Amino acid sequence: MKISGQSIIGLRSAVNSGPSFRAANPRTGERLPPDFFSAGGGEVNLAAGLAHEAFAIYGQLSGREKGKFLRTIAAKIEGAVDELVERAEQETALPKPRLQSETGRTSGQLRLFAQLVEEGSWVTARIDRADAVSKPPKPDLRSMLHALGPVVVFGASNFPLAFSVAGGDTASALAAGNPVIVKAHPAHPGTSELVGQLVRESVQECGLPEGVFSLLLDSGTAVGVALVKHPVVKAVGFTGSHNAGRALMDAAAARREPIPVFAEMGSTNPVFILPGALRENGDNISTGMYKSFTLGAGQFCTKPGIVFLPENEDAATFVDKLKKSVLESGQFNMLTSGIRSAYQSATTRRKTETGVKLLAARPSSANDQELGVDAALFEADTESFLRNPELAAEVFGPATLIVRHSTRAQVLELARSLGGHLTATIHGTDADLHEFRDLVAILKDKVGRLVFNGFPTGVEVSHAMVHGGPYPATSDGRSTSVGSEAIFRFCRPVCYQGFPEATLPDELRDGNPLGIWRMVDGEMTRESRTT
Ligand code: NAP
Repeated sequence: MKISGQSIIGLRSAVNSGPSFRAANPRTGERLPPDFFSAGGGEVNLAAGLAHEAFAIYGQLSGREKGKFLRTIAAKIEGAVDELVERAEQETALPKPRLQSETGRTSGQLRLFAQLVEEGSWVTARIDRADAVSKPPKPDLRSMLHALGPVVVFGASNFPLAFSVAGGDTASALAAGNPVIVKAHPAHPGTSELVGQLVRESVQECGLPEGVFSLLLDSGTAVGVALVKHPVVKAVGFTGSHNAGRALMDAAAARREPIPVFAEMGSTNPVFILPGALRENGDNISTGMYKSFTLGAGQFCTKPGIVFLPENEDAATFVDKLKKSVLESGQFNMLTSGIRSAYQSATTRRKTETGVKLLAARPSSANDQELGVDAALFEADTESFLRNPELAAEVFGPATLIVRHSTRAQVLELARSLGGHLTATIHGTDADLHEFRDLVAILKDKVGRLVFNGFPTGVEVSHAMVHGGPYPATSDGRSTSVGSEAIFRFCRPVCYQGFPEATLPDELRDGNPLGIWRMVDGEMTRESRTT
């Protein structure tokens, strides 16, 4: 495939209306050809107009037709793995094996949603039969979920495939029946365009209206904001920083017709290592913790960024091992110069915070790479942590903060002080869990996923996964951006009252022609008869 540097607007060629930019190789700093051209206002309008037109048809497609489309994209991605990995490696410096598995995750995700919509029960069909005898008489009511309309998706920098052009937001929005306009992340425009071309080919092959998919390029924020403000756009999916997510939420709320923004904005993912687990398994937990907070150079939204430890001998041994791992670590490459300087400012600031000690940091050397950074391990005491909300904020990169406590009451106070996070982790024995049983109850209200005796990095794409959490981890704690439940972000319930059978969607017909699970008069059933 050839990378043109152009936005993809349905099946049309974009006009080079905006300024050009290039991707950079994070390892070498080399500017990679070709030039990419930022989209302009005309292209935003064209993509939005085509998406609006396409919705009239795409929003009505059967699960089988949408499944075929998603499976076609998945197969095309698999067919182009080498090319995608090659370009993504140049643009992100992420290791090839990681990118290969991310490609598998992306196609697997598309197939998961294909399976969901082909089966069909996800529409949550409900039927309350009419009752003419009751007083007052009850009407026939039938409801199900329908798509919203055009959805704008912002590709994330840290997952050039699985959270980007054909990633989880796009897959779930398309599965629900929404056309998608992606705003590519400027850190990997070539990878974005390649995947965009594959989605465009799939649109053509499946005979879908061209506006089902567009991909707009921009080196700044104008295109993204214009898309979010465009009147035909009905929802937004975003993964990235708190500042950008919040700006998009505010822009969406200020529209004449406010729309939902599903922003996954990061989290510090607190870890509680309880005394029994520390005593019995401290060595392994320390090894796992180092791997987890430095995985992907710490550029994961599930990176464990705060570790709560008791003040005892076992903790001292645990910390010594962690310090050794940090001191012996190599350099880590960040994805972009912006992310690198954000990490450096955050770690420099942290060194000056009252009550915070830098326990270990790899010394810089002459061989340091263009976007290289060093891992860092910080420590604070309970009082300093509780006094300073900055210490609970995300530092995106290979750093973590140990917080020492000395009583059970302090553990619970620390847990209660936390804001919304994507995950919280507990390492404990049965006896620990018994002693700290209130901790689980406190943490359940703070996060989307509780991890026991494991590590938060590594987010399985499945039906039960929740990758969400109360604000500020996400804009809407009722949702997940990973797993099949992510589809529920991009649809809404519609009730049909008293409609003749022949005019109802298949999902709500008496005969249950799709054989899906439905709630009929309060009972879940796949039965066909409703009369
Ligand atoms: P970002 O700054 O949040 O940018 C993500 C996307 O949003 C980009 O396409 C960006 O466009 C756009 N954007 C940024 N500010 C915007 C605004 N005010 N209005 C409209 N669009 C806007 O994320 P990033 O570039 O990937 O990394 C920066 C920081 O984000 C990191 O240091 C880290 O703290 C955080 N981050 C978090 C996660 C996570 O999983 N939660 C993932 C990645 C990054 P432009 O780049 O063209 O401005």
